[in-house]
Amino acid sequence: MQTIDIIVPVYNEEACLNQTIERLLNLKEKFKGKLSVSYIFVNDGSKDNSAQILEEFAKKDKSIKVINFSRNFGHQMAITAGLDYSKADYSAIIDADLQDPPELIYDMYEKSLEGFDIVYGKRLKRESETAFKKLSAWGFYRVLKSLCNIEIPTDTGDFRLITKNVREAFNKMREKHRFIRAMVPWTGFKSAPVYFNRSERFAGETKYPLSKMLKLAFDGIFSFSFKPVDLIFVLSAVLFLTSLVILGFGIFDGFEEEFLICFTVFLVGAINLLALGILGQYIGRIYDETRNRPLYIVKNSINL
Ligand code: UDP
Ligand code: MG
Repeated sequence: MQTIDIIVPVYNEEACLNQTIERLLNLKEKFKGKLSVSYIFVNDGSKDNSAQILEEFAKKDKSIKVINFSRNFGHQMAITAGLDYSKADYSAIIDADLQDPPELIYDMYEKSLEGFDIVYGKRLKRESETAFKKLSAWGFYRVLKSLCNIEIPTDTGDFRLITKNVREAFNKMREKHRFIRAMVPWTGFKSAPVYFNRSERFAGETKYPLSKMLKLAFDGIFSFSFKPVDLIFVLSAVLFLTSLVILGFGIFDGFEEEFLICFTVFLVGAINLLALGILGQYIGRIYDETRNRPLYIVKNSINL
């Protein structure tokens, strides 16, 4: 029988885990006679009881596999590890907080049978998320789409099912700054959405504070687009033209000198720093690649 691994990144999810695992285990019944189901929980350095809960379940059920990281390496690295260890015909990725309905993985599988190697969950509604999160996510996906040359579906997270072919191609991509929801479409395999309403987190708080959201957004933009560098050229052209205008005014008409100097110093300073910052983003990424550190470190594993 063909197989599926369901990969679940876990960071401080003790409030959700029992319920999540129960819901995920129900999938075995749904896939009966079609796919044999295993689970790869990647504990991303949780400081709460997540590791103990996972261990208890893994002891009782060999299809539950656990990877414990040595520390918190981040959501994208946890998914990467799950995909590295997955050996099944299909791999699915789902969050641990039940915001993504586990049952949809079955629909993704059915959709894949129509000839798709990637089936991703596209969010229609986001219940009970803050207005800021909804607005920033809405804006971010659209900015990203306009900046990048590959087709990145909007309103789509990492909740998806991929075939072994896609996984093997993806696993060859070892870059350090990972934006998985764009790396998967980069592989070029045929993809299709299934739609769902994103519900509330089952319990606990988001593990994505603003700092992690920004890091992910920066990785999305700077790892997939050189357009920010083009922006530097545009800004320099704008500055040059502005300086000509100022020169013209200066010649024909006496400006308030102090105001002009002050304004120009600040504007030029800000644009210079922006340009440096943009270049720094790329240079920092080159530095990270050359150091060639591992993407994550596994402390131990269970049933693997
Ligand atoms: N997560 C993780 N490492 C982190 C942060 C989050 O493995 O450093 C996991 C988390 O346990 C959850 C998923 O990534 O399974 C998505 O996180 P969360 O639900 O907090 O993000 P949100 O849905 O609020 O964007
Ligand atoms: Mg969530």
